[in-house]
Amino acid sequence: MEELLRRSEKLTTVGQLAAGVAHEIRNPLTTIKGFVQLQAHTLKVNPKHTTMMLSELDRINLIVSEFLILAKPQAVRFLEKDIRPILDEVVSLLNSEAHLHNVQVTTAYGAVPMILCEENQMKQVFINLIKNGIEAMPSGGSLQIKVNAVNEDGVSITVKDQGIGIPQENLPKLGDPFFTNKENGTGLGLMVCHRIIDSHHGNLFISSEVNVGTEVKIVLPAAHVSKEKIEQEKGYISIR
Ligand code: ADP
Ligand code: MG
Repeated sequence: MEELLRRSEKLTTVGQLAAGVAHEIRNPLTTIKGFVQLQAHTLKVNPKHTTMMLSELDRINLIVSEFLILAKPQAVRFLEKDIRPILDEVVSLLNSEAHLHNVQVTTAYGAVPMILCEENQMKQVFINLIKNGIEAMPSGGSLQIKVNAVNEDGVSITVKDQGIGIPQENLPKLGDPFFTNKENGTGLGLMVCHRIIDSHHGNLFISSEVNVGTEVKIVLPAAHVSKEKIEQEKGYISIR
């Protein structure tokens, strides 16, 4: 029941993505337009309509800001880092949200090699995964984060919840833009994770059982391995 999100399958073209975004933005805009027209007609302001318009505007905002994480050319700096303090920062950032939802976050770290990473992007990945874990446990539970070495060449990070799980037929859809089961979801979180992990030459695996929980495992190459790969890529480009 494990699903490896493959680069070729999941990296959508900009065109497909843009079409999806346009579609997602058009729906809330249609609602707002309807109410605005109605209010212009009656010259009366209905507070219920105003509330709905504001919530649709919030939704547009959320979709556009998640989309911008992908589209915005950011200053990307890959540096040699220990993943563990980065995870600690994310955990403390989400501490109050976890607490609010009765979720206990635990961490267990082994000795691991350094990785070559863009710290902000790594944080974004774990923010998205931990949020998904919290959202999967509506009546609370525990969320375990583990870090272990993979031989001497890599680091594995697992985020495991005791939540509602994912039906098997949905596993292949994970990471598709706009695939969401949540009323207020954007369906962009896992795609962002996948993109970032891919750009770090890593892999992302998801295994899940309905009503038992979900485990997301990320494997990243150790810094010395990444450096070799970068050198090889440089060599490849210079040959061409
Ligand atoms: P969003 O959280 O906005 O819905 P994501 O891309 O983060 O978008 O997740 C897509 C979908 O994958 C979710 O709507 C949910 O159905 C499923 N999913 C992701 N993570 C989990 C998890 N830990 N437990 C259960 N379902 C999950
Ligand atoms: Mg999410």
